Amino acid sequence: MLSSPMTICGRCEGEFTAEELTRHERGPLLLVHCPDCGMVLGSYRRR
Ligand SMILES: [Zn+2]
Repeated sequence: MLSSPMTICGRCEGEFTAEELTRHERGPLLLVHCPDCGMVLGSYRRR
């Protein structure tokens, strides 16, 4: 079993794997949202 890093939302305190998070492309960035409350949890530069 792979141990994928869990992301913890600071607003609703939910724990999510990378696959559960909502992704949204914003120009050159990939924004990652909490699937429950929609808070932005991070942004990544797309390749
Ligand atoms: Zn949340």
